[in-house]
This record gives sequence, C-alpha cells and structure tokens, in this order.
Amino acid sequence: MSKKDDDNPLEEIQKQLQDLLKNKNMQVAFAPFMQGMNPSSDDKEPEKPKGGDKKEKEPEPAKEDPLDSIRSFDRKPKEVRDYLDRFVIKQEQAKRVLSVAVCDHYNHVRRCIGDSRAQSAEYLKPNVLLLGPTGVGKTYLMRNVAKLIGVPFVKADATKFSETGYVGNDVDDLVRDLVKQADGNVELAQYGIIYVDEIDKIAAESSRGGRDVSGRGVQINLLKLMEETEVNLQSSQDMMGQMKAFMDMQRGGKPGKATISTKNILFIVSGAFDQLAESVRKRLDLTRIGFGSSGEQEMDSSGINFLNKAETQDFIKYGFEPEFIGRLPVRVACDELTKEDLAEILLSSEGSALDQYRKDFDGYNIKFDIGNPAVKEVAKLAATEKTGARGLVTVLERIFRDFKFELPSTSIRKFSVDADTVSRPQDALKELIADNLDLLDENLLSDVDRYVDSFKREHGLELRFNKAAKVAVVKEASEQNRSVLALCEKKFKDFEHGLKIISQRTKKNFFNVDKKVIDDPDKELSRWVVESFSQTEESK
Ligand code: ADP
Repeated sequence: MSKKDDDNPLEEIQKQLQDLLKNKNMQVAFAPFMQGMNPSSDDKEPEKPKGGDKKEKEPEPAKEDPLDSIRSFDRKPKEVRDYLDRFVIKQEQAKRVLSVAVCDHYNHVRRCIGDSRAQSAEYLKPNVLLLGPTGVGKTYLMRNVAKLIGVPFVKADATKFSETGYVGNDVDDLVRDLVKQADGNVELAQYGIIYVDEIDKIAAESSRGGRDVSGRGVQINLLKLMEETEVNLQSSQDMMGQMKAFMDMQRGGKPGKATISTKNILFIVSGAFDQLAESVRKRLDLTRIGFGSSGEQEMDSSGINFLNKAETQDFIKYGFEPEFIGRLPVRVACDELTKEDLAEILLSSEGSALDQYRKDFDGYNIKFDIGNPAVKEVAKLAATEKTGARGLVTVLERIFRDFKFELPSTSIRKFSVDADTVSRPQDALKELIADNLDLLDENLLSDVDRYVDSFKREHGLELRFNKAAKVAVVKEASEQNRSVLALCEKKFKDFEHGLKIISQRTKKNFFNVDKKVIDDPDKELSRWVVESFSQTEESK
C-alpha cells in the first residue's frame, strides 16, 4: 500500500533471484535457504518438498480451527461488560461503549466467515477512539476483549511511525505483526485488533513534540489501513522474508497468499489528549455564555468529563484530518483512577499486580496476607505517582523488593503486610527476620544437604551432618545474613585438602560432622588429621 510497495519490490527481487538461480554456482551461496529446492534438478536427487505437494504428506491429525472461537462468539454486550468487570475496575462508560462495538463487529465478522456475500456488503467498521490518561486501563480493556474473542492483538505507539519513504517503522508492519501473533494464520489475523497508542502526538500541529516527522502523513497511512487495503505479507525491507517466500513458492509450486486485507481488522486508537480537554472546556464555556444556559451541569475540573464532550470539530481543531477522525466513529473517554479505585484493583481485579506478587512468593513456598489498611496505604502512595494503576506496581516493588531477596533464604514461610510494612518496608523486614531467627524449617536444612551433595560430587568425600550440626549451620547463616551454601563453603574451605590427607592414610571416605565441627571447624579438622597420623603409626 505504501509507495515503496507500489513499486512491487517482491516482483523485482524474484526476477533477480530467478536470473541468479539460472547460474548453478549460486546454489552454493544460497545453500542455507535452498535446502529442498532444486530449480535445475537434472543432476541432483530431488528432495521431498516441505510444503505444497499435499500427496506426499502424512495425513495430519485434525487441528482445531482458530476461527472457531470467532464463530462461536455469541456474547451480548452486557455479557462482554460483565466479563471485563472481572479484570478492569471502573471505566463503566468505556466498557459499555466497547462492548457494543465489539459485539457488532464480531457479529459482522461471523457473517463474513460463513457467507462471502457479507464480505462484499457495505460495512462501517466501529473503530474506536479511546481517550484518557495513562495507566487507567485503556489497553487492558482491549487486551481482555481480544482474549475473550480469541483474536490476535497488536499494540504500538503512533510516535514510532514515520511517513512513507522516511526512516522509521511503516504502519503496514502493524498488520504483519498481527499475522505473527496469529502464528502465521492470515485468515485469523484479518479479524484481529490493532491498537495504536499516543495518537494525540501525531496531531498535525504536534510539532510541539519536536519530532521531525509529519503527523499528517502518518495519519494518512493509518487511515488507509483503517479503510480497506491489501498489505503485503512480506515487508519490502525484509530481504530474508522475501527470499524465503520466493523459495517456498519454488518448492511448493503454488504461491501462498501474498497479501492480507485490512477490511475487517478492528482499529483502536488512544491518547491522553490533555490539551483537547482544555479546548473543549473553553468551547463549552463560550457556548454557555452565548446561550445563557444556566441550567447546564457544572463540569468536572479534572478535565476528563470534557474529553467525553469532545466533538469531531474539536479533534479537527486539535490537528486531525477530518477523514481520519471520521473513521473513528466510536469515541469514549476513560476516567482517572482515584485512590479508592486503585485499592479496589488490588482487592478485586483478577490478575492484579498483587496477584503477581503472590505468585512470585509462592515460587518459594512463601505466603503473605495483606489487610485493608495496608491496601489503602499502597493505593494512596500509588495515586501520588500519577501514572494510574502503573503506580501500584511501582509501590509494590518498593515494598517487596527486599522481602523477595531475603525471605527465600530464611525459614519464614508466611508473613503479614500491614500499613507499617508499607510505610517502612526495610524496618519491617528486619523485625520480621529478627522475630523469626529461632524458626527452622526443612527447606533450609535441605540447603545443607545440597552443600553435602556438591562436596561429594567434587571431592568424592562425604560429610555426614547430624541434625544438631545442620541446625547450627542454618542458625549461624541466618544470624550472619548469608546463605547456608555460602557459609558452608567458607567454614569448610580447608576440608577438601585435610580430608584428602586423612583419606589417603586411612582409606576413610566419610566424616561425621557434629555441632563441635560447626563451632570450630579448623580445630576439629586438625584433630582428625593428627588422629589419622597416630592411627596409621599404631597400625605399623
Ligand atoms: P493505558 O490506559 O495507559 O493503556 P493500561 O491498560 O496499559 O494503561 O494499564 C496498565 C496496567 O495497569 C494494566 O496492565 C493493568 O494491570 C492495570 N490497570 C490499569 N487500569 C486498570 C483498571 N481500571 N482496572 C484494573 N487494572 C488496571
């Protein structure tokens, strides 16, 4: 679709490759790509084609058709909303609007899959413009929608793209990425969802960002995708891909589909649009003065409500092409998340950041519980970050970072997080460890066994710890705040040498380690060595 593709580089490359391949010597240079391909096959055993010739192939077990999940998608808008409620807190308006758009679109797609006439019928795609600050769930909503329907999802920032012919990413790459997400299934990819963030940064007057790129050009390229176009599956930049496609064609005879239609790809574009809120507010203020509509509802000073009041003219004034904004008929704003919303995310959103931390600790068999006051405290701190729900991760990371490092090497398998832990995590961790110094669990005792095993593997000698010795090592390690392994390596660093001497003299290859050895390993080792000498002298 882009200018680069209009020249059809694929054809040109294929022609050049064909010329080259007439020369048999080229097979050497192309060997890595050419296994199984033999255009002049008179002097070589033909290899079995890897694709194409169906007759030679083993019958494959019937695979599930990836389109089945779209075919069976029969949810009603309210059911989609209810599904989203499990993951996304608040954003009621966005959930309602998106649920309707998504149901409409995938009902249409279902008709297209079943009936080719539906494909060619006139259809107005409900592409969506999602407005609102960062970290409030815009992407999360759409990712969950894509998961629910079972279609591939691709996200990119509008600022990464450049106008055709300039250095930078090509918007067509979005469509090719969708094919990759669909594991190469072009049919499934053409019903996928493309999400373009930071769209407000490519408003035409947005040289405010100081970027040397024309936002207008990128808008036009995106517009082509949002309408209907065929995108080459092989990027004109991707030489390897071009060659592979060509050789696959040579091998299999029948060329695969070389392009993908964007007709049924659903586009979501999003952005914070903070300056737009201000200009809508001004417009509405003027209107109010102009018509003296005193009964009109007061606007929220946060600005978010103003985004919901934005009209096509506001977007055009902001720097968007009328055609571009016209292709985004569904518009809705997401709200800023309050500290109460953030707390609600921690308490009830499936797969929240807190769930992730639970899983991380679970990896070491450690559980924690967190009370409501602590959740509120985390939410309060996260709200000050001004990055929406992303602030939760920042705060939780700060709290749990040292816990994650220290606790797996202690006997603590359970702890509580209270408001004090949130405000002074390091002190709380120190207290937790100090309070549990006497705790011993089998996990840590088995760290001693791991050391014993490695000593035996490396030196062929066995250290037989009794329980009291194991307990003493584990305690000492936790008092010194080091791992059991490191403590053993330090304590027994001379044992390899000393025990080998004893073993040579006495043929003994195991040694009992009791608490005395732990308390003073060097003294005990010397005693063993001396004893081994006297034993061997006596036996003479
Ligand atoms: P953006 O609005 O910038 O697209 P995201 O949707 O990427 O933000 O949010 C980042 C992360 O924060 C999500 O992956 C999700 O874990 C969490 N999150 C954001 N908003 C919400 C919300 N309303 N409910 C639950 N989790 C949320």
